[in-house]
Amino acid sequence: MEPAALERFPSPGRGSGLRTRRRLRPGELLYRAQPFAYIVSKEQLGGVCERCLRSRNEHLQRCSQCKVAKYCGKSCQKEAWLDHKQECRCLKSVEPNIPPDSVRLAGRIVFKLLRQSVCLSERLYSFSNLQSNIEQLSEEMKDGLRHLAQTLQLYLKTEIQDVSRLPPAIDFFQIFTKVMNPGCFLEPFWEFVGVQCWVRLFSVVDTVVTCNCFTISNGEMQDVGVGLYPSMSLLNHSCDPNCVIVFEGYQLLLRSVREIQIGEELTISYIESLVPTSERQKQLMRQYCFECDCPLCQDQEKDAEKLAGEEHAWKEVKDAVNEMRYPKSKEEWERILARCQNLLSSNMGRLPDTNIYQLKMLDCAMDACINLESWEEALYYGSRTLGPYRLYYPGFHPLRAVQLMRVGKLQYSQDMFPQALETLKQAYNIMKVTHGADHSLMQALMEIKEQCEAVMRTQ
Ligand SMILES: [Zn+2]
Ligand SMILES: [Zn+2]
Ligand SMILES: [Zn+2]
Repeated sequence: MEPAALERFPSPGRGSGLRTRRRLRPGELLYRAQPFAYIVSKEQLGGVCERCLRSRNEHLQRCSQCKVAKYCGKSCQKEAWLDHKQECRCLKSVEPNIPPDSVRLAGRIVFKLLRQSVCLSERLYSFSNLQSNIEQLSEEMKDGLRHLAQTLQLYLKTEIQDVSRLPPAIDFFQIFTKVMNPGCFLEPFWEFVGVQCWVRLFSVVDTVVTCNCFTISNGEMQDVGVGLYPSMSLLNHSCDPNCVIVFEGYQLLLRSVREIQIGEELTISYIESLVPTSERQKQLMRQYCFECDCPLCQDQEKDAEKLAGEEHAWKEVKDAVNEMRYPKSKEEWERILARCQNLLSSNMGRLPDTNIYQLKMLDCAMDACINLESWEEALYYGSRTLGPYRLYYPGFHPLRAVQLMRVGKLQYSQDMFPQALETLKQAYNIMKVTHGADHSLMQALMEIKEQCEAVMRTQ
């Protein structure tokens, strides 16, 4: 569908929103957006290509100048150069420190604004239209943003010596009010943050989530980066949305997952919908300053199931899951797997797999086993997640599609061909709606499905 079929409208009580001018079926591609600016998140730096965000292997080539940016090959490095050139000198100047995600992203936004490129993703809405959160900010928060703006000034000083000579549209403080989420400044951590205090500032700001930005995930639904897609900032939230966003590299795809009537508002979920209502409400208030009144929040239907089991047991699991960071080595994966195995066995009979923290632990154990190439054990954990996934992600949800695909692949690796084919078919039926036939993940799914069918024909 052409963007012309989407229109901006005043959504009652929510500022602007997007709606459709024609009736939509599930599985339609509504918008394909290029980022105005994007970065690889600090956690994934060095693990994915800075340009295409896709490859994740040991063979990435480092930028010989800053030694921070990495690319899967010469063509990606060449394509990235326009966005990286000035940033590269800035990164080199603050070595060995790497600024936090928000500052690196703001840096790219500044250079892009300076180049004044016309960006396709601005067709519905431009960077200058983006709502800043300034009116919701307390003095303390504004102080925090001023610190960030000063950090940005330090970071960019090799390229921009005199900030006062920038065009008025490029105001460092303004940029942060548009990109940052005000909720993150509620904590009193700003008291001890000084501009010169790089290391501390970085560790603090790393936890910051941005408001007008989107977390970019890869095919496996792992978060790899952060990007700004101005037009898509018009989409409002529902915990039970009628659209989803998936990524193909750095491209954002907006797709319908329900039938949507003419004039109906398009919604996406800003947060992980798996957590119980009270936690979703808290997170939305903290990060986006609004109260959700979607059907899921009103009936709170599955909340009891989400927290079923012994409370002290799931609280321990919850803490453990929250502490885990994406591992970068085999040893770290081994440590994580051991921790998961331990908790899963000590909680046997005390936590059902439908408890969301138990579910996250199973996911984590499966990830660890896949990374350690223990396929059989990975399949054991993965199979246990499928029931709860069906329960919590009914209908068309990209996370369920990806989970089914992963389990199907594991079944295939264990020569369980009929089961694998059945699971892959289920994945296919969801993925054709959530990702679409052209998506690279869908093509990968088709390949395994065909291999599986070929093996079964010869048996
Ligand atoms: Zn690449
Ligand atoms: Zn570089
Ligand atoms: Zn809600």
